[in-house]
Amino acid sequence: MTFEKFGLSEPVLKALQATGYTTPTPIQQQAIPLVLNRSDLLGCAQTGTGKTAAFAIPTLEILSSAKGSGKGYRHIRALVLTPTRELAIQINDSFAEYGKFTGLKQEVIFGGVSQHPQTKSLQEGTDILIATPGRLLDLMNQGYIYLDHLEIFVLDEADRMLDMGFIHDVKKVIRELPEQRQTLLFSATMPGPISQLADSLLHNPEKVAVDPVCSTVDKIEQAVFMVHAADKQPLLEHILKQDSNRRTLVFARTKWGADKIAKNLNKAHIRAESLHGDKPQAARQWALQNFKNGRLKVLVATDIAARGIDIDNLTHVINFDLPNIPETYVHRIGRTGRAGAAGIALSFCDGKEKAYLKDINKATGQSIAIVDHPFQKATAPQQNHPRPKKGPSSKQHNNFHRRKNQAAAV
Ligand code: AMP
Repeated sequence: MTFEKFGLSEPVLKALQATGYTTPTPIQQQAIPLVLNRSDLLGCAQTGTGKTAAFAIPTLEILSSAKGSGKGYRHIRALVLTPTRELAIQINDSFAEYGKFTGLKQEVIFGGVSQHPQTKSLQEGTDILIATPGRLLDLMNQGYIYLDHLEIFVLDEADRMLDMGFIHDVKKVIRELPEQRQTLLFSATMPGPISQLADSLLHNPEKVAVDPVCSTVDKIEQAVFMVHAADKQPLLEHILKQDSNRRTLVFARTKWGADKIAKNLNKAHIRAESLHGDKPQAARQWALQNFKNGRLKVLVATDIAARGIDIDNLTHVINFDLPNIPETYVHRIGRTGRAGAAGIALSFCDGKEKAYLKDINKATGQSIAIVDHPFQKATAPQQNHPRPKKGPSSKQHNNFHRRKNQAAAV
């Protein structure tokens, strides 16, 4: 099997030859012909399988072979939504590599950095936009991004979107997309809310899977939320409200902190108990028993109290406070992802904890992905919803706002 067999055009084939790829990976073999055929697609595949090229190559082919491509103002015709800035950058690099002879333009946007270079490039027009959900919504609301001309929508790592608390943002973006479009959804696992989203999003989708089980990932997924200390509690509540079926162990640095977090969660109607050494033995056992049998979904514990906990199906560990000792971090996240089950470890990092994060990354030899979220403060001053200087016409602008108002009224 070679890439020539897909009937790709010269510019795309030339770029693929330059990358040194000779044989399409299994996900590419399955997905590329289906996407070229303009089918919606549900892909079960993890990072590392070649899934980026599986959607990037046919997207570039479709956009570049369309009549009039590259002429006039460039409207966004393909949107790739992905959960982390690291993935967004990686995907952007892949599009740049495979698309370098197509003449198509692409932009990447993500949060946590000044929006100005991004909005400046967007005003010049782009064919392909790669984005994280928070920054995309923000710039859409400010009137910098219009998706009226969208032809292809790729939702990448859908399950991580859910795990990281972005699913509502994703749904808001989807409400702004034109009905007539091709949609490709990729997810390593298929939890209930994602298969419901897939049902509502995809029209007669073709299904491709490189791991037919499509249910577990073999390692713990990790992410960091940069957040002000005062916003940690609302961020925790936001994440926990995404999916009430999770079993989450929240780590707090102090006993007092664990009590306060649990108390505030209960106030926010999220049932939670704290677990620490100052609690009477009977209360600790009661909390642990309920957590084990699934009646209690959220337990807030200190390191010492959590030491003996061995619970099946613990899906999430959340470090409300980052530990100052890297080994403690490794120990904490090891509470999840047991026996081959999927595990997610999310950490909140405030200004004072940045040094701890650095130590953890150094000790574990990794760079934990930093993700966007609704409680991060923009580093750049917010503008007063300026109109783009160039680009979409006032009619498109008005259409965008009319649709938004309609959506708000429903
Ligand atoms: P992904 O799963 O998209 O993150 O891709 C994983 C890695 O596989 C990336 O480094 C790609 O450059 C590489 N890759 C993708 N497709 C191919 C291919 N057909 N042959 C060789 N390497 C590939």
